[in-house]
Amino acid sequence: MRSTIVAVVLFSAMLFAGVSRAQDLGPGFTKVKDGIYTFAPDQTTTTCSFVVTQEGVVMIDSCNSPLDSRKMAAAIKKVTDKPVVFLIDTETHNDHTANHFVFSPPALVINHSGAGEAMKKDFNPKRAETLAAQSPEMRDALKGNRLITPQIEYKDKMTLNLGERTFELFFLKNVHSEADTIVWLPKERVLFAGSAANVRWFISLRPTVVLPDVLASYKFMKSLNPEFVVPGHGPVSTTKIFDEYEGYYTLLMKRVGDMAAQGKSLDEIKKELKMPEYADWVGQDRLPVNIEVAYKSVKK
Ligand SMILES: [Zn+2]
Repeated sequence: MRSTIVAVVLFSAMLFAGVSRAQDLGPGFTKVKDGIYTFAPDQTTTTCSFVVTQEGVVMIDSCNSPLDSRKMAAAIKKVTDKPVVFLIDTETHNDHTANHFVFSPPALVINHSGAGEAMKKDFNPKRAETLAAQSPEMRDALKGNRLITPQIEYKDKMTLNLGERTFELFFLKNVHSEADTIVWLPKERVLFAGSAANVRWFISLRPTVVLPDVLASYKFMKSLNPEFVVPGHGPVSTTKIFDEYEGYYTLLMKRVGDMAAQGKSLDEIKKELKMPEYADWVGQDRLPVNIEVAYKSVKK
């Protein structure tokens, strides 16, 4: 039942965005534009993407599990015989970065300065073992598993020219992880926006996230004027996801600010504050964490 609802939601989201399902590549694959494909298994699982150029393939994120990465590798092979030359990470967390080994080598991994250090700090040596216990397929997919940190780290902005395409990489500060990169294709007007906004779910905000910086990032990303926005989790959408999250965080900060001004403690606010307008968003259990981050922003 739930999966039917999710499928319907995903399909309507795609109709809205004006992209098409790439059925030949398997469930969850979407063709955004010629040579630009994303793989969003569902509303919350990590989205990963690939862009074909005359000189090779550029991937964005390495998918949630090694099984998803193997599906991705197979899909790329169906579309082109060119190798994956670059893999750009939109963040440092392992649901986006732990499967570099499936693509690199030969791919070179790129993310903002500090990404490698953050990945080493967060590295969970038990992850592979835990995953392998899930199924024989997962165990197979883990062959060659090892931590691969970005070979290339840039500062603030980077332009990657490959074949006929241009990829502009921008660093977003304090929006999700220690190193968040958005990838902008100016000619195609496709934006890979990472996890500053997703699709109608409460994001697990780390204590380092600064909500005013998140709101500023939405403004910046909207100013690029993308036709399509590919989030870090969930299906292809448009800038409407920035508007939705801007509305949500603005209201959240307002309510937290009002309650703090009445002298309420963080614990009291966490107990009392409700966001009924967002009752249909996934991940309601993350509201307290969102409140903590909002509280820090309004207390500054
Ligand atoms: Zn993340």
